[in-house]
Order: sequence, then structure tokens, then C-alpha cells
Amino acid sequence: MAKCSHHVVDLEDSHQRIIRNVRISVTDRCNLRCTYCMPEEGVDWVPRSQILTFDELIRLVSIFHSFGVDKFRLTGGEPTIRSNFVQLVQSLQSICPSIRLSMTTNGLKLYEIAEDLQKAGMRKLNISLDTLDPQKYHDITLRDEFDTVIRGIKKAQSLDFEEIKINAVALKGFNIEEIFDFIKFSDESGLEVRFIEFMPFSGNKWKVENYISKKEILDLIRQEYQVTEIPSEDKSKTSVTYQIEGTKARIGFIASVSESFCKFCNRLRITTEGNVRTCLHSSHEIPLHDLIRNGASDEEIISAIQLGVKEKWEGHPDFRIIDYKPPVDDKSMILIGG
Ligand code: SAM
Ligand code: SF4
Repeated sequence: MAKCSHHVVDLEDSHQRIIRNVRISVTDRCNLRCTYCMPEEGVDWVPRSQILTFDELIRLVSIFHSFGVDKFRLTGGEPTIRSNFVQLVQSLQSICPSIRLSMTTNGLKLYEIAEDLQKAGMRKLNISLDTLDPQKYHDITLRDEFDTVIRGIKKAQSLDFEEIKINAVALKGFNIEEIFDFIKFSDESGLEVRFIEFMPFSGNKWKVENYISKKEILDLIRQEYQVTEIPSEDKSKTSVTYQIEGTKARIGFIASVSESFCKFCNRLRITTEGNVRTCLHSSHEIPLHDLIRNGASDEEIISAIQLGVKEKWEGHPDFRIIDYKPPVDDKSMILIGG
């Protein structure tokens, strides 16, 4: 069985940021069609033959572990629809016992697999749920699966995961009018609900009119409740959480547009075909796929990553001020991996 490399050297970019988090897209396919993520006209899926095998993925995880990366988030597309996904989690955890695995999922398969997933070593779950209204759920995901997600969330809560959070993309005129329902949901379920500011990606028809900032949402909440920020020491954290006073509810924000966290960004993303994306919003990728498939040694792959990470840009532009349009030749979110 392969063995996981130990931490040899840090991976540092040109802006003195040391990479500590890697997100891996295990498939670009999905069983939902969220309109903010998946372009209406469809996408060119990565051909199956180009998708990294489990052995190739495990090799990359081991290489990144040698850079001191111990947090890996599995995502997609929808990670749980990759065949034998639980087996992948189990293999990663047994080959690299010191890594901490988390996952972002739409929750549709959780009822079936949550128990095995937890036993296999998955620690933390982010479950996406943009609305608490079944009809609106259909409108945004184009699928009638609201009850399936709720069932999956309840199942996951009955198990021993370290952390479960709910993610909702904040969409003006769509789900922000449900803010007090989300507070009630968080209070009753004990789950933190985090609003992700709506970001522009190729083909997702982002318009500033549909965008609502963290501050605007907080102002709405403050009309009814006092809120207290929960302090955090972690500078690279992407989210800020608030306790809703007088309740058990916690509402978080990933304010990637209004309060971008680029300055302390310590993340990289591995795409389904095994290239390394240095930022969600820059089309720059370190082309590892060909190296991996053409028999490159670990040393060659390590050098390519060290060189490529120097190209990680300082930060993305402010999407609101310059009427930002994502580069036309860039990928949509579903192909990048969230
Ligand atoms: N399928 C899984 C899911 O939906 O949770 C994982 C992949 S999805 C691309 C990862 C995260 O990105 C989800 O929380 C999703 O809501 C978020 N996302 C997708 N498009 C987005 C956008 N345009 N702006 C902000 N967040 C987005
Ligand atoms: Fe699929 Fe997740 Fe994108 Fe929705 S946000 S289309 S569930 S990948």
C-alpha cells in the first residue's frame, strides 16, 4: 500500500502566504442544476478518461501532505456521486492518517451514505441548502429534492460528525426574505447557517442587482435581533459567525465579494483532471495532469507545484466596482470545484 509523505517543506507563494488547505474536485458531474453554478446551456464535462483515478488522487494528497497541508476538502460537482466515494475517503484516511477530511455536498446522497462516510473518516460536512421553501428549492436547483436534503441533514445530525454547517448562496430577491426563517431553522436545528456572497463565474449570469452583501443582510437581522460576532484567531478563515442573541441560532457569512479574504488565502484547488487552480477567480492553473499521466516523478511534480504557486495572484478585483465580467474563456463554478 502507498505511504503518505511526511511534512518536508512549506509551500509558499510570492505574497508570503503558506498553503495549508487544498480542495479537491472529485467529479465535475452533479445531480442538481443550481442556476448560480451550472450554466443553463450546459458545460463541456471533463471526459471520464481524463478524471484522476483514486490512486492518482491519493498520490497528490501525499505530495501536498509533504508541503504541510493537512486539511483537504472534497468537493465537485457533487462529490458523493463519484463512484465508490466512501472507499476514496477510507483510502485517503488510512494512507494519510493525520489528514483532516471535510466535504461540501448538496446533501442528496447523505441519507444513504452518511453513516459509512463518517466511519470512513470524514469529519466535517458543509451541506448546501439555499432556501427553506420546497418550491423555491426547485426553482433554484431545477430538481424536486428538498425533502431528500432535509432527510440527509437529519441523518447526518444523528451521527458523530465533528461539525455540520449549512451553506446558502445569498441571492437578493430570492432567499434573503427568508432570513428570519433561516434564523428559526438554525435555532431549532442547532446548525450554523452560512450565507455565501453570490460570486460571478463564467455562465452564471451574475448581476450586481442579484448580489447582496454581508452588511446588508446583517442590517436586516439587526432590525429584529442583537447579534454578537464570535471571535476567531484564524486569520485565513473565510467566514465570520454571529450569535443571534436570545436564540441558539448562529448565522455566518462568507463575504468573498465585500470583504475578500485574499490577503490571508492559504488555499489551492485540484480540478477533476488534476490541475491545480491557484484561485477561484483566476484562470491560472498549474498543469499537473499531463505530468501525472506521462510518468513524472514526485520530484518533478513537486517542482511544478512550487514554481506554479508563485503565480498565485495577490487577490481578485472588486467585482462590484468595475462591472466585473468573468473571463469568457474561464470555467464555470461546477467545473472549477467549490
Ligand atoms: N455540490 C456541492 C454543493 O453544492 O455543496 C459542492 C460543490 S459547490 C460548487 C460548492 C459550493 O459553492 C456550494 O456551497 C455552492 O452553493 C457554492 N457556489 C456555487 N456557485 C456559487 C456562486 N456563484 N457564488 C457563491 N457560491 C457558489
Ligand atoms: Fe451541483 Fe453544487 Fe453546483 Fe448546485 S452548487 S449545481 S449542487 S455543484
